[in-house]
Amino acid sequence: MQTVLAFIVAALVVAGGFRVFRHDSDIKPALVTPHMNVHAEFSGDFSARLYRVTHGMVAQRTLAHPKLIALTFDDGPYPMFTPLLLDELRAMHVHATFFLIGRDAQQWPGIARLIEADGNEIADHTYTHPDLDHETNAQVREEILKGRDVLWHLTHDASVRDLMRPPHGRYTAATLRVAQRLGYKVVLWTDDSGDWRTLTPKQVETNLLHYASAPDIVLLHSGKLATIEALPSVVARFRKAGYTFVTAGELLRQVQPEAINHPLHLSV
Ligand SMILES: [Zn+2]
Repeated sequence: MQTVLAFIVAALVVAGGFRVFRHDSDIKPALVTPHMNVHAEFSGDFSARLYRVTHGMVAQRTLAHPKLIALTFDDGPYPMFTPLLLDELRAMHVHATFFLIGRDAQQWPGIARLIEADGNEIADHTYTHPDLDHETNAQVREEILKGRDVLWHLTHDASVRDLMRPPHGRYTAATLRVAQRLGYKVVLWTDDSGDWRTLTPKQVETNLLHYASAPDIVLLHSGKLATIEALPSVVARFRKAGYTFVTAGELLRQVQPEAINHPLHLSV
């Protein structure tokens, strides 16, 4: 079936569909597991692009794409903002995934423990939050491991040894391979709130609804008031559309990796 699809894609390219092909193959992976081929999932060369388009067509047609949504919050923990965010999540009965910065967790250990005590998941977002695409392999390894050790010492959440996200979503093929060798799944996202910029709550909500997919891994940040304010409305909209909220780890246990990298785009 993949060979047939490869021929179809090749025919489309010849027929002038190169722009469509280029767009479809530009999509970066939302998830890189230790077993994935980094070149095929990430490279810009033609063979990798062809692999992604054909693989994506098969995955979209053949795999289950449940309406599961994982809210993920990067950075922190921060005083004031993170406890406020936890209050909102608790009130809505939503468990989320927190990609914490090791150095910040060291500074605010009580808040890191509070995140865990509420039933949320904690994962590795490095120790000092550098741009990993500018670091050597040894530095990348040290950042991941030092972040992991701090978070493991504070919380003992198994996910700090299993899930990581590179700061600012910046990485190279080499970064991914270092994470793979350490046994990590690199979790990016399918749905970007854009809340790292200064947005209104309405803009955060509009972005999330616009980029919604099934399954959905949502990128949010821990230190943003607009994000906290947007949450009740966002959660209500997704629930009304039939979504169930889970942690990223739970989503990865329930959905095939290929379905996460080739999700169905939905209007919510
Ligand atoms: Zn970050």
